Amino acid sequence: MSFSTPVLIVIAMLAILVIGRIIASPEAPGRIAFGLAAVASIWWIAMVVLRLNSVDLSDKILFSRLAWFGIIAAPLFWSAGFLDHAGFSQVTRRVPIAIILTISALGGIAALTDGYHHWIYTGVINEERPTFSHGWLFYVILGGMYLCMLLACLMSISQLKRAARLHRRQMVALLIATCAPWGCNAAFVLFEFRLFNDDPTPFAFSATVLAVLFAQHRGKLFIAPPIARDIIFSILPDPIVVLEPSGLVLEINPAAEKLTGFNAETVGTKLPPSHPLMAFVARDTQTETRKPIVHFDAMEKIFEVSAQPLERWGRKGSVMVVLRDVTAREAAQKSLSDAGHALKLRLEENLRLQGQLEQQAFRDHLTGLFNRRHASTVIPPVISSASEDAPVSLIVVDLDYFKQVNDRHGHDVGDKVLSTFAMILSDSLQGAEMAFRYGGEEFLVVLPATTRDQALERCSRWRREFATHTIAELKDVALSFSAGIAIAPQAGTSLTECAKAADIALYRAKISGRNTDIVWGEHLDGIAREGPADQGNAGDHSVRKTRSGRKVASP
Ligand code: GH3
Ligand code: MG
Ligand code: MG
Repeated sequence: MSFSTPVLIVIAMLAILVIGRIIASPEAPGRIAFGLAAVASIWWIAMVVLRLNSVDLSDKILFSRLAWFGIIAAPLFWSAGFLDHAGFSQVTRRVPIAIILTISALGGIAALTDGYHHWIYTGVINEERPTFSHGWLFYVILGGMYLCMLLACLMSISQLKRAARLHRRQMVALLIATCAPWGCNAAFVLFEFRLFNDDPTPFAFSATVLAVLFAQHRGKLFIAPPIARDIIFSILPDPIVVLEPSGLVLEINPAAEKLTGFNAETVGTKLPPSHPLMAFVARDTQTETRKPIVHFDAMEKIFEVSAQPLERWGRKGSVMVVLRDVTAREAAQKSLSDAGHALKLRLEENLRLQGQLEQQAFRDHLTGLFNRRHASTVIPPVISSASEDAPVSLIVVDLDYFKQVNDRHGHDVGDKVLSTFAMILSDSLQGAEMAFRYGGEEFLVVLPATTRDQALERCSRWRREFATHTIAELKDVALSFSAGIAIAPQAGTSLTECAKAADIALYRAKISGRNTDIVWGEHLDGIAREGPADQGNAGDHSVRKTRSGRKVASP
């Protein structure tokens, strides 16, 4: 036949083109299987064309038998390619491909040896075409082929619901495409429909797979969604582990293979119950506001965990665990909080030092009492608040003959005397009462809401305690002081006025013989009545001589 040679050349070129395209085409799902289906159907067509061109019946029968390699392989590879596209990528791994090739080869060998067993062809009905009567293997193979394609279609349909829109449209397109060889075969078997006076099925197969491969290669159709997912899964730096509730690892991505305890062989093994990821088998972290953290101590890494139950995806009880490496983030957070903590400590230390400095600024360092500067700040408001009902007593205390203590016993002992007296004062203070070191051996005490009698009483108490001091170096020495008392508001309403009044009273106490307390105002009357103060005024009711007449030294 004249048409066969160019057809054969075209077919051979197409076969070369298809194989070339498969090698050059991107990693489209089902690429290898669709390609092999194309090669098988082209082989099938070639045998049909050769048969049509043969004159001898034996040649025609030989080409009919040789066609069986393609008759079996084409629908099987088509089914595998379809399933791969629908997400069942395991059917196009090396072993299933090898099984399909073996089945096809065995079918081909069975056809070539049919002359001995007649399992496929039982006899020739029409020598011209030729057409055959069929044996049991023919029907087994035919049934098997139809079953495989049906199964592929059904499994893809089962995936339609979960597929994304574009992918779903592609699967529907593939389902429709499957109808072409199917329909042609059915038309040939049932209604004797013919193309080039022969079975149109191989032509339909070739046309369909070539169209799919062309769409994958040129239009990038039948590629994007599944491929993108596979690529994402394999290149994602975040480890992904799919776990069954029992701890059985169903799937891991390459990033997860680097986790401690994981490797390429982990899929199909069980994680021990103690494994940190086991805490997430029955957990849905999507609803948790704070993502949980797991530590992989051996690899010194910290991961944030996102656990997604796979029930919606048909894997009830299973969970997909996605780990995000947050080691750097956690370290940064820790150093930030450490720095914050250190800063807080330093701030507290600074505040403490500042407080200490402030204390030192208004405290006398020898006695610990407030200093004179502080007195000018805090006393005025106390004095100005004084009233007849709530008088404020301001007492200036001066130790008697203190210079002699220094001279006779040394400055250190003098210091001890000052500290001892300061302690007596501060121990006796209550509420808003305040004591100040006003000068060398001079003290100022402010007693709010204290009457004249109460102030005198307080002086008596201090005197008693001072006289019975416990300074070892001054065992037999009686210590005393003189005090001038000003009662606000009678003596004045300012610190200056009251301090001056108290000083006058103190001076009076000194000149009246020391070791005594005088209230301002009262001694003035006394002076007026009894003459100069330095002549003594023991009879004056305002001068209180202590019972103990002891003096440190007499001038
Ligand atoms: P009077 O009874 O008249 O008050 O006599 P006095 O000796 O107490 O008074 P005077 O003013 O003559 O002496 C006060 C002495 O206090 C003089 C000074 O050396 C001493 N003095 C002042 N400040 C300190 C101090 O901080 N430590 C010691 N040890 N002595 C001090
Ligand atoms: Mg003095
Ligand atoms: Mg003195």
